[in-house]
Amino acid sequence: MPLNVLLLGPQGAGKGTQAKRIAAAYGIPHVATGDMLRAAIAEGSDVGTRVKSVVESGQLVPDDLMIDLIRARIAAEDTDAGFILDGFPRTTAQAEALDTMFGDIGRNFSVVFALQLGDQVAIERLLLRGELEGRVDDNPEAIAKRLAAYHRETEPLVEYYRTRGNFVTIPADRTEGEVFDELQEVLEQAAVV
Ligand code: AMP
Repeated sequence: MPLNVLLLGPQGAGKGTQAKRIAAAYGIPHVATGDMLRAAIAEGSDVGTRVKSVVESGQLVPDDLMIDLIRARIAAEDTDAGFILDGFPRTTAQAEALDTMFGDIGRNFSVVFALQLGDQVAIERLLLRGELEGRVDDNPEAIAKRLAAYHRETEPLVEYYRTRGNFVTIPADRTEGEVFDELQEVLEQAAVV
């Protein structure tokens, strides 16, 4: 059985960090739409040029473009054993499109995790990351826009997935190791089913 995992949660909750650890532990690819877009921007590809200003200012890229991007990515062979999705879906339209894609390829999420973190801690973490890593959108103005977009567009997906089972909320205001241990406990059950 493939292990298909979704990590939901606000910016700064540690989705990327935890997804990388899960990917390494279970040998599945980390599919992070933010990373894919930043790579496209760095490359100067067609997609990169189209999304650059939107991504850098902290707004959401249009659904159509994101849906096409993820459709191509999850069709790749390296996802046969599953994948961990980080950063997609971010809107109800994206979640509905993903349902259709899953129906077409006969997949489902093995587990959906919702990492929970308050805005204040999220802002502190993102400002620190901005200093350490220099991400262009980790500045106060873009952070405010990104968190607002999270609450408006993405948080409703917590309810969207909660009702479907295989849904687990995880408090994220703890150390990386503590959060990972809890994720892994749940994944151990999912991986053997
Ligand atoms: P992230 O690294 O997940 O925080 O994403 C960085 C930026 O990429 C976001 O602020 C958006 O501009 C864009 N982005 C990433 N994933 C999506 C998505 N699923 N829908 C729309 N925009 C996205």
